[in-house]
Amino acid sequence: MSNNPALQTLRSVFGYDSFRGQQQHIIEQLIGGRDVLVLMPTGGGKSLCYQIPALVMDGVGIVISPLIALMQDQVSALHQVGVRAAYLNSTLALEQVREIEQQLQNGELDLLYIAPERLSNARTQALFARCKIALFAIDEAHCVSQWGHDFRADYLLLSVLHEQFPQVPRIALTATADERTRQEIIARLALEQAQVFVSGFDRPNIRYRIIQKDNARQQLLNFIRTEHPGDTGIVYCLSRKKVEETADWLNQKGLKALPYHAGMEHRERQKNQHQFLMEDGLIIVATIAFGMGIDKPNVRFVAHLDLPKSVEAYYQETGRAGRDGLPANAWMAYGLQDVLTLRQMLSTSNADEAHKRIELHKLDAMLALCEMVSCRRQALLGYFGDVLEQGCGNCDTCLEPVETWDGSVAAQQALSCIYRTGQRFGVTYLIDVLLGKADDRMRQFGHDKQSTFGIGKALDEKQWRSVFRQLVAKSLVEIDFEGHGSLKLTDACRPVLRGEQTLMLRKDAQIAKTRREKAEK
Ligand code: ADP
Ligand code: ZN
Repeated sequence: MSNNPALQTLRSVFGYDSFRGQQQHIIEQLIGGRDVLVLMPTGGGKSLCYQIPALVMDGVGIVISPLIALMQDQVSALHQVGVRAAYLNSTLALEQVREIEQQLQNGELDLLYIAPERLSNARTQALFARCKIALFAIDEAHCVSQWGHDFRADYLLLSVLHEQFPQVPRIALTATADERTRQEIIARLALEQAQVFVSGFDRPNIRYRIIQKDNARQQLLNFIRTEHPGDTGIVYCLSRKKVEETADWLNQKGLKALPYHAGMEHRERQKNQHQFLMEDGLIIVATIAFGMGIDKPNVRFVAHLDLPKSVEAYYQETGRAGRDGLPANAWMAYGLQDVLTLRQMLSTSNADEAHKRIELHKLDAMLALCEMVSCRRQALLGYFGDVLEQGCGNCDTCLEPVETWDGSVAAQQALSCIYRTGQRFGVTYLIDVLLGKADDRMRQFGHDKQSTFGIGKALDEKQWRSVFRQLVAKSLVEIDFEGHGSLKLTDACRPVLRGEQTLMLRKDAQIAKTRREKAEK
């Protein structure tokens, strides 16, 4: 028998043999009276990190949770293993509230779950003052952050806990927090002294791959046919229309695909989801509406035909692959048009300016991941603060190192072309100018007489698209949506334009291949 009370509790109460990942360290910190911030993905085992200390320590563990349904589930799971737990939220009648308050005062509870809005309540504060509190656990701590996606004003009240009970250790937990969200959590909850634990984000069995679009539907079909014949998979698209079209097309090609999006009739949607869960070898083509609570272990691939809005979204959606731990693929085709579409959706949305700026930053981080020339997993984990010392060996950039080329001259030509034509035109027109393809419209504008007319013949159209995409992704060029998607120079492009900065660009795989093929002919 162990003399470690935390381990004893893990075994005798929860029936598990050993701690997972960093659970033990986290628990020790709390029992030692110190604050901690825990970042662990969903399913990582966060609950035990506060449940066990609450059982080991004197007094009751107070758990602040915003989700009523989860609160109820947790409490009934705890009752099943004989833990004295209860919750206080708006679903209870006054009589029930009184009973729980009484238990609390008598020291008859190990864990109390409570909704954040109740904390400002004088009644709650008086109650807390009358009982012995072991710890505070703040679940879904990212809700305190405006930068995050789930802000709840009630969470701002949580700083009072620390002011009123400075000696009680706190644990804040979340599954999603990039660097800025983390900083905000620390600042708003006064967790400057807390030890931060980030772990468990890696999904080593998922192979990440992001390729450049070149007839994406066909690329998807080739990918499925060669690597996943007969496998279960999810294909994500941005729009309902594209979901329908892609599902139809895959069916025409002899695959079994079902659509899923919020615009479908409820019954139909439920039916497709049910079929996907029950049967194997089906492909579900879906908008992001699909996936909440989907836990099918043998999804062998997740494919994106459109760029996700953020790295968090990408991580979450790709994370639905390979839950069984067996090899799985996260495959994405992405191109310039994706960037244009998403930026446009953002700029025309009704959100306020501050919010739009946040969303733009998130999109930029996603773009950086797409344009990566080093290990994608390292970057992905790094986004959540999880460290991977070396390249993973299981992503496209590790398996097939990306070739780069000195794109400085091409970039200068592209940037001058934008400038000389008055920053009023989109990519297709600009490429025509660079390639010297004049039409009546171009002649009318006199752009066939411009110095940049025909100077770009060293590259072909696809290569120019790749250059423009990377200029946009690197924010050397921005898109003006009031000007119908015309490209404009940004301040950041000046050093490149003046030839003071070398610009290394990705050689896109398809393009490199066509070049080789041409050379071989
Ligand atoms: P999270 O809150 O991080 O999403 P949970 O706390 O719900 O995750 O844990 C996910 C699952 O893992 C639960 O079924 C839990 O019982 C199980 N689990 C957690 N820690 C351990 C452990 N040390 N050994 C075995 N199972 C564990
Ligand atoms: Zn890698």
